[in-house]
Amino acid sequence: MAKPLIVITGASSGIGAATARLLSDRGHPLLLLARRLDKLEELGLPDALCRKVDVTDRAAVQAAVREAEERFGPADALVNNAGAMLLGRIADQPEDEWDRMIDLNIKAVLYATRAVLPGMLGRGSGTVINVSSIAGRKTFPNHTAYVGTKFAVHAMSENLREEVAASGVRVVTIAPGAVETELLSHTSDEQIKTDYEAWKKSAGGALDPQVVAEAIAYAYQQPPNVTIREIVLAATGQEA
Ligand code: NDP
Repeated sequence: MAKPLIVITGASSGIGAATARLLSDRGHPLLLLARRLDKLEELGLPDALCRKVDVTDRAAVQAAVREAEERFGPADALVNNAGAMLLGRIADQPEDEWDRMIDLNIKAVLYATRAVLPGMLGRGSGTVINVSSIAGRKTFPNHTAYVGTKFAVHAMSENLREEVAASGVRVVTIAPGAVETELLSHTSDEQIKTDYEAWKKSAGGALDPQVVAEAIAYAYQQPPNVTIREIVLAATGQEA
């Protein structure tokens, strides 16, 4: 039987790209969203609709999901993965970095969820997988605005899970520690980036994004009556 559609935001690099490859290997048609269309297309995955969408644009997310559902049938899962980690101190971090993280890490999670959830509720099945962070459970130096967004993802995921549980829709939170991706590169403070790299090294290195993709697939592949509510995973050497 043909496998159902899965929507992945931020599939152009890191965890999202690894998840796209893995779920494609498992036979799912995919909707892949990111701003760098070339990177999505470079993945070269079969039955993957690649769309250049800034996920902070509500209407664009809706339109892409509708297009994918017309082509592949209803979305059975959403991986809310797109995110930014702009580390800084509140006293001197450019304020627009807070706005960018709040728009992307919090509001865009709601936008993509709204694009798939009414259909899932109508069918009485579906899975929303939110990629939060260990920074959604505890604090770290220079992470004040970022932890605010990731605590929000944890809180929204749990509350949404309660909201839809009786309807047969599952909500999963994935909370990784440091993962080797492009995420840190967007932080503008060079000293903070250097210190973070040293911290990762002292922990024996960060996780491979493939490991996080496997955790996402594990949660998704459970029988419909089983919800893995949260997976917290980090490199063994990561103490914090
Ligand atoms: P990457 O920077 O490698 O990937 C981020 C993805 O988000 C890219 O595909 C990027 O695509 C996309 N993205 C960014 N802004 C937008 C936007 N406005 N619209 C659409 N897509 C966007 O980082 P990771 O793979 O590490 O990050 C994935 C998730 O994992 C994030 O939510 C992050 O917070 C979380 N996480 C990461 C950890 C880590 O240590 N790496 C640890 C814990 C959680 P493009 O630029 O092409 O738009």
